[in-house]
Amino acid sequence: MKAPAAPTKAPPHDPPHAAALEVLRRVFGYDAFRGEQGEIIAHLVGAGDALVLMPTGGGKSLCYQVPSLLREGCGIVVSPLIALMHDQVAALRQAGVRAAALNSTLSARDARAVEAALLAGELDLLYVAPERAVTPGFLELLDRARIALIAIDEAHCVSQWGHDFRPEYLQLATLHERFPDAPRIALTATADPLTRQEIVERLALRDARVFVASFDRPNIRYTIVDRNDPRAQLLRFIGDGHRGHCGIVYCLSRRKVDDTAAWLLENGVRALPYHAGMDAAARTRNQSRFQSEEGIVIVATIAFGMGIDKPDVRFVAHFDLPKSVEGYYQETGRAGRDGLAADAWMAYGLADVVQQRRLIEASDADDAYKRVSSAKLDALLGLCETAGCRRVRLLAYFGQASVPCGNCDNCLHPPQTWDATEAARMALSAIFRTGQRFGVVHLIDVLRGKDTERVRRWNHAALGVFGVGAGTDEHTWRSVFRQLIALGYVRIEHGAHGALQLDESSREVLRGERAVQLRSDVRAKGSARRGARRRSGAGSGAASGAVDPGQLDARDAELLEKLKSWRSGQSREQSVPAYVVLHDATLVEIARTRPGHADALAGVAGIGARKLERYGEELLEIVRTAT
Ligand code: ADP
Ligand code: ZN
Repeated sequence: MKAPAAPTKAPPHDPPHAAALEVLRRVFGYDAFRGEQGEIIAHLVGAGDALVLMPTGGGKSLCYQVPSLLREGCGIVVSPLIALMHDQVAALRQAGVRAAALNSTLSARDARAVEAALLAGELDLLYVAPERAVTPGFLELLDRARIALIAIDEAHCVSQWGHDFRPEYLQLATLHERFPDAPRIALTATADPLTRQEIVERLALRDARVFVASFDRPNIRYTIVDRNDPRAQLLRFIGDGHRGHCGIVYCLSRRKVDDTAAWLLENGVRALPYHAGMDAAARTRNQSRFQSEEGIVIVATIAFGMGIDKPDVRFVAHFDLPKSVEGYYQETGRAGRDGLAADAWMAYGLADVVQQRRLIEASDADDAYKRVSSAKLDALLGLCETAGCRRVRLLAYFGQASVPCGNCDNCLHPPQTWDATEAARMALSAIFRTGQRFGVVHLIDVLRGKDTERVRRWNHAALGVFGVGAGTDEHTWRSVFRQLIALGYVRIEHGAHGALQLDESSREVLRGERAVQLRSDVRAKGSARRGARRRSGAGSGAASGAVDPGQLDARDAELLEKLKSWRSGQSREQSVPAYVVLHDATLVEIARTRPGHADALAGVAGIGARKLERYGEELLEIVRTAT
């Protein structure tokens, strides 16, 4: 019993690429495919299986949405997060796509209505939670429906080693066994080879064509600052270009999340906390406010993440060091999915290194795990301390070669380096002479010749190194120690005190056989660093041809505000997040180009046929009446 083909499907003899472009333009309002989207879509339309590795914001959803519209039948999308499913379906419906979701939040009656629509051939896309996707009831339902393709989103959830592991994902291969003719596409933003291997094996995708996109996110500007006055630095960062923007601040501990959120709120930033220690209702409430309101800053532990596909997150700030480069990349990747300029900002200091090393040591994991964690931390420290381009370093970590980007702190303001050979020798011998039993605070006191209780107790004033570094300020000494640790010359003791110890490699430095070049930490004093923010955007936004809202002149900015407030009204009225109505990028382009008639408006990215029909008049009216 086959369902009839839906009337919107393209005739089968069309060359796939032309038909796909037509759908892209008419339904989604975009001009051209990004990266490999076009090839991926053609491959699926031709009934091939695909594994797609693409960074967050790369445009994975279109890879299965467009072929679902082109192939006969309904695209089945397995997606792990119910909240996301809801927004995706809402966004598709706005574009006139016949989409629905089946999950546990639906009443039995609503679920039956969705099933009936599927069987009647009235659905283009059906989102389903993984636990439901493998139930006998659902499989029998699919037996009676026509399936355009099967998409498995967030495919890395099959990986038992990853932190997003979902046991139900392990059973998804049954879908393939049951429906061998439906092309399958698995998608993820997790790039490492191990996870990829697991996806291929566990989802039985051995014959799938693998598409690996560049992992560069050109619109994200990376900045890593030396932490000296963290709260003030964070506030300055937000105040300086991100006031009223939506962003995420990551902290390591629950307590710090609460404190930071409260403190930001006191300072006029609309901040909300999110961590696993809060009760579930409060957490859900904060997450959904973040998702649907504008200008909310969420302060969170890394528990806050996968449920987020808000396109207009303008910044991600790390208030504590993440655990690895992968973690950093994944977390910062939540910024700027819409392709507009976004910031990834991190404040990092010596205390972070000590804390992370201790966390690794204190865990009950085995030695192999500790070694891996420790190596991962080293790679991250390398990224923090590099004087070269951050992006080059980041991409190199994922095996991708690149050239300096022009859109990171080090490219924009090349850091000064200095010959720290003498200072390094002093620091190392202070560690050695005091018996490798003291932390950085005391070592600096010794170097600077301070008369403290501890100095007296241990008679450290008698040492040759006492006071040799008095001419250098404390801040610089901290920076020296931090970099010596990051460079691997100094280790942090395994015990609880964080005593510094010499690594073998420090010998050459101590003996004066190796020179040490360190970066000088500029104490960020204010906005000088961000002066270039309103630039034309070297590499930034270029991927999508998007415009930085900061580039609008006052008159256009005013129009943008009017458009946004109209959008807020729509969003409230329809109970959908603002970005589901229209993306920021779309509003910015309208404000900048001021379309005077429907045809011009149709040319704006993000305005498809349905949105033109639904919102066109009102938008044109707002533009017309703007000064
Ligand atoms: P991912 O799932 O890979 O994180 P999405 O599918 O959510 O990314 O897409 C990210 C953003 O890019 C969305 O706002 C989407 O509308 C936009 N986008 C995707 N493909 C295109 C395209 N070809 N042209 C313009 N915008 C696109
Ligand atoms: Zn750079």
